[in-house]
Amino acid sequence: MTKAAYLSGMGLPAPFPPGGRRVPRPEAPVPCSNCGELVGRGYPECAICAERIDDLWWADWRALLDAERVQTGTDEERALAERVRAASVGAFPWTCVDWALWLLTCTVCGGQVGSGDLGCVDCAAADGARWAWDHQALPVAMTPNEHALRVAVAGLRAPHRHRDVAVAGWRLALPFLFAGELPTTKQAQRIRALLLAGRYAELARCRDFCAMAHLPDLPWRS
Ligand SMILES: [Zn+2]
Ligand SMILES: [Zn+2]
Repeated sequence: MTKAAYLSGMGLPAPFPPGGRRVPRPEAPVPCSNCGELVGRGYPECAICAERIDDLWWADWRALLDAERVQTGTDEERALAERVRAASVGAFPWTCVDWALWLLTCTVCGGQVGSGDLGCVDCAAADGARWAWDHQALPVAMTPNEHALRVAVAGLRAPHRHRDVAVAGWRLALPFLFAGELPTTKQAQRIRALLLAGRYAELARCRDFCAMAHLPDLPWRS
Protein backbone atom coordinates (compact mmCIF):
# COMPACT_ATOMS: atom_id res chain seq x y z
CA MET A 1 0.00 0.00 0.00
CA THR A 2 1.31 3.43 -0.83
CA LYS A 3 1.78 5.97 1.89
CA ALA A 4 -0.97 8.13 0.33
CA ALA A 5 -3.42 5.24 0.45
CA TYR A 6 -2.43 4.53 4.01
CA LEU A 7 -2.99 8.13 4.99
CA SER A 8 -6.36 8.47 3.30
CA GLY A 9 -7.64 4.96 3.86
CA MET A 10 -6.67 4.21 7.41
CA GLY A 11 -6.63 7.67 8.83
CA LEU A 12 -4.04 9.25 11.05
CA PRO A 13 -3.90 9.30 14.83
CA ALA A 14 -4.54 13.05 14.72
CA PRO A 15 -6.20 15.30 12.15
CA PHE A 16 -3.03 16.72 10.54
CA PRO A 17 -4.67 19.93 9.31
CA PRO A 18 -2.52 21.25 6.44
CA GLY A 19 -0.59 24.49 6.83
CA GLY A 20 0.47 27.38 4.66
CA ARG A 21 -2.44 27.15 2.26
CA ARG A 22 -4.52 30.19 3.24
CA VAL A 23 -2.38 32.69 1.34
CA PRO A 24 -1.96 32.45 -2.45
CA ARG A 25 1.62 31.97 -3.60
CA PRO A 26 3.22 33.94 -6.44
CA GLU A 27 3.21 32.16 -9.80
CA ALA A 28 6.87 32.99 -10.26
CA PRO A 29 9.58 34.63 -8.13
CA VAL A 30 9.24 38.42 -8.02
CA PRO A 31 11.80 41.07 -7.07
CA CYS A 32 11.55 42.49 -3.56
CA SER A 33 10.86 46.25 -3.51
CA ASN A 34 12.94 46.56 -0.34
CA CYS A 35 16.13 44.51 -0.73
CA GLY A 36 16.13 44.20 -4.54
CA GLU A 37 16.65 40.43 -4.46
CA LEU A 38 13.95 37.91 -5.33
CA VAL A 39 11.31 37.87 -2.58
CA GLY A 40 12.46 35.46 0.11
CA ARG A 41 16.18 35.77 -0.47
CA GLY A 42 16.47 38.49 2.14
CA TYR A 43 14.68 36.34 4.73
CA PRO A 44 14.44 37.05 7.58
CA GLU A 45 16.50 40.27 7.75
CA CYS A 46 14.60 42.12 4.98
CA ALA A 47 11.25 43.28 6.39
CA ILE A 48 9.35 42.78 3.13
CA CYS A 49 10.83 39.35 2.42
CA ALA A 50 10.02 38.33 5.99
CA GLU A 51 6.48 39.67 5.80
CA ARG A 52 5.67 37.91 2.53
CA ILE A 53 7.07 34.55 3.62
CA ASP A 54 5.87 34.63 7.23
CA ASP A 55 2.36 35.51 6.02
CA LEU A 56 1.86 31.82 5.16
CA TRP A 57 2.50 30.98 8.82
CA TRP A 58 0.74 34.00 10.29
CA ALA A 59 -2.52 33.35 8.41
CA ASP A 60 -2.81 29.95 10.10
CA TRP A 61 -1.83 31.26 13.52
CA ARG A 62 -4.33 34.12 13.23
CA ALA A 63 -7.07 31.64 12.30
CA LEU A 64 -6.19 29.62 15.40
CA LEU A 65 -6.26 32.78 17.54
CA ASP A 66 -9.69 33.63 16.13
CA ALA A 67 -10.99 30.11 16.73
CA GLU A 68 -9.70 30.22 20.33
CA ARG A 69 -10.84 33.83 20.85
CA VAL A 70 -7.33 34.83 21.84
CA GLN A 71 -5.74 38.25 21.21
CA THR A 72 -2.21 38.54 19.88
CA GLY A 73 0.47 39.73 22.30
CA THR A 74 -1.37 38.50 25.40
CA ASP A 75 -0.61 35.94 28.10
CA GLU A 76 -3.39 33.87 26.59
CA GLU A 77 -1.47 33.75 23.33
CA ARG A 78 1.63 32.50 25.13
CA ALA A 79 -0.47 29.87 26.90
CA LEU A 80 -1.87 28.81 23.53
CA ALA A 81 1.67 28.56 22.15
CA GLU A 82 2.65 26.31 25.08
CA ARG A 83 -0.41 24.16 24.40
CA VAL A 84 0.44 23.84 20.71
CA ARG A 85 4.04 22.96 21.56
CA ALA A 86 2.93 20.23 23.97
CA ALA A 87 0.19 18.79 21.72
CA SER A 88 0.51 15.45 19.94
CA VAL A 89 2.01 15.43 16.45
CA GLY A 90 -0.56 16.53 13.88
CA ALA A 91 -2.99 18.13 16.30
CA PHE A 92 -2.31 21.57 14.78
CA PRO A 93 -1.03 22.73 11.37
CA TRP A 94 2.77 22.62 11.07
CA THR A 95 2.74 26.37 10.54
CA CYS A 96 1.13 26.84 13.95
CA VAL A 97 3.69 24.52 15.54
CA ASP A 98 6.47 26.71 14.11
CA TRP A 99 4.75 29.94 15.14
CA ALA A 100 4.31 28.64 18.67
CA LEU A 101 8.03 27.86 18.90
CA TRP A 102 8.89 31.34 17.56
CA LEU A 103 6.74 32.91 20.27
CA LEU A 104 8.30 30.95 23.13
CA THR A 105 11.59 31.73 24.83
CA CYS A 106 13.91 28.83 25.64
CA THR A 107 14.38 28.60 29.40
CA VAL A 108 17.88 27.15 28.92
CA CYS A 109 19.56 29.40 26.32
CA GLY A 110 17.17 32.37 26.15
CA GLY A 111 16.66 32.14 22.37
CA GLN A 112 13.49 31.26 20.49
CA VAL A 113 12.61 27.66 21.30
CA GLY A 114 14.18 25.41 18.68
CA SER A 115 16.26 28.22 17.17
CA GLY A 116 18.61 29.03 20.06
CA ASP A 117 22.24 28.19 20.76
CA LEU A 118 23.71 25.33 18.79
CA GLY A 119 24.68 23.50 21.96
CA CYS A 120 21.31 23.96 23.71
CA VAL A 121 19.78 20.56 24.44
CA ASP A 122 16.24 21.92 24.83
CA CYS A 123 16.39 23.70 21.47
CA ALA A 124 17.80 20.59 19.81
CA ALA A 125 14.93 18.55 21.25
CA ALA A 126 12.27 21.08 20.20
CA ASP A 127 13.72 21.42 16.70
CA GLY A 128 14.03 17.66 16.32
CA ALA A 129 10.51 16.95 17.53
CA ARG A 130 8.75 19.26 15.10
CA TRP A 131 9.87 17.27 12.03
CA ALA A 132 7.76 14.28 13.08
CA TRP A 133 4.87 16.27 11.59
CA ASP A 134 6.48 16.17 8.14
CA HIS A 135 7.45 12.49 8.31
CA GLN A 136 3.91 11.46 9.15
CA ALA A 137 2.05 13.89 6.88
CA LEU A 138 4.01 13.68 3.63
CA PRO A 139 2.85 13.66 0.89
CA VAL A 140 -0.85 14.27 1.52
CA ALA A 141 -1.40 16.73 4.36
CA MET A 142 1.97 18.24 3.45
CA THR A 143 3.45 18.46 -0.04
CA PRO A 144 7.18 18.00 -0.67
CA ASN A 145 7.26 21.72 -1.58
CA GLU A 146 5.72 22.66 1.77
CA HIS A 147 8.24 20.46 3.57
CA ALA A 148 11.14 22.08 1.70
CA LEU A 149 9.72 25.53 2.45
CA ARG A 150 9.45 24.70 6.16
CA VAL A 151 13.01 23.35 6.29
CA ALA A 152 14.42 26.41 4.49
CA VAL A 153 12.62 28.90 6.74
CA ALA A 154 13.62 27.05 9.92
CA GLY A 155 17.23 27.00 8.73
CA LEU A 156 17.31 30.68 7.76
CA ARG A 157 15.83 31.63 11.13
CA ALA A 158 18.65 29.78 12.91
CA PRO A 159 21.67 30.05 10.59
CA HIS A 160 24.09 29.60 13.51
CA ARG A 161 22.78 26.07 13.91
CA HIS A 162 23.79 25.01 10.37
CA ARG A 163 26.73 24.85 7.98
CA ASP A 164 27.24 27.90 5.77
CA VAL A 165 26.65 25.93 2.58
CA ALA A 166 23.27 24.74 3.84
CA VAL A 167 22.23 28.28 4.77
CA ALA A 168 23.35 29.59 1.37
CA GLY A 169 21.36 26.85 -0.33
CA TRP A 170 18.19 27.74 1.56
CA ARG A 171 18.68 31.44 0.78
CA LEU A 172 19.03 30.67 -2.92
CA ALA A 173 16.08 28.30 -2.95
CA LEU A 174 13.50 30.20 -0.90
CA PRO A 175 12.14 32.49 -3.69
CA PHE A 176 11.58 29.45 -5.92
CA LEU A 177 10.13 27.30 -3.15
CA PHE A 178 7.80 30.20 -2.31
CA ALA A 179 6.58 30.18 -5.91
CA GLY A 180 5.82 26.47 -5.61
CA GLU A 181 8.88 25.01 -7.31
CA LEU A 182 10.94 22.11 -6.02
CA PRO A 183 14.40 20.99 -7.19
CA THR A 184 14.94 17.37 -8.16
CA THR A 185 17.42 15.46 -5.99
CA LYS A 186 19.94 15.67 -8.81
CA GLN A 187 19.48 19.43 -9.16
CA ALA A 188 19.84 19.92 -5.41
CA GLN A 189 23.08 17.91 -5.37
CA ARG A 190 24.48 19.87 -8.30
CA ILE A 191 23.55 23.22 -6.73
CA ARG A 192 25.20 22.16 -3.47
CA ALA A 193 28.38 21.21 -5.35
CA LEU A 194 28.39 24.62 -7.07
CA LEU A 195 27.90 26.35 -3.71
CA LEU A 196 30.84 24.44 -2.26
CA ALA A 197 32.84 25.66 -5.25
CA GLY A 198 32.09 29.24 -4.22
CA ARG A 199 29.68 30.13 -7.01
CA TYR A 200 26.83 31.68 -5.01
CA ALA A 201 26.80 34.93 -7.02
CA GLU A 202 26.32 33.11 -10.33
CA LEU A 203 23.64 30.87 -8.84
CA ALA A 204 21.81 33.90 -7.47
CA ARG A 205 21.42 35.27 -11.00
CA CYS A 206 19.63 32.13 -12.27
CA ARG A 207 15.88 32.22 -12.90
CA ASP A 208 15.04 28.72 -11.66
CA PHE A 209 16.49 25.51 -10.19
CA CYS A 210 17.05 24.09 -13.68
CA ALA A 211 19.22 27.02 -14.72
CA MET A 212 21.20 26.79 -11.45
CA ALA A 213 21.85 23.09 -11.92
CA HIS A 214 23.03 23.69 -15.49
CA LEU A 215 25.75 26.20 -14.70
CA PRO A 216 28.81 24.79 -16.46
CA ASP A 217 31.89 23.67 -14.57
CA LEU A 218 34.82 26.03 -14.64
CA PRO A 219 37.62 23.91 -16.12
CA TRP A 220 40.43 25.96 -14.57
CA ARG A 221 39.11 25.23 -11.10
CA SER A 222 38.77 21.45 -11.43
ZN1 LIG B 1 13.56 41.62 0.48
ZN1 LIG C 1 17.61 26.83 23.80
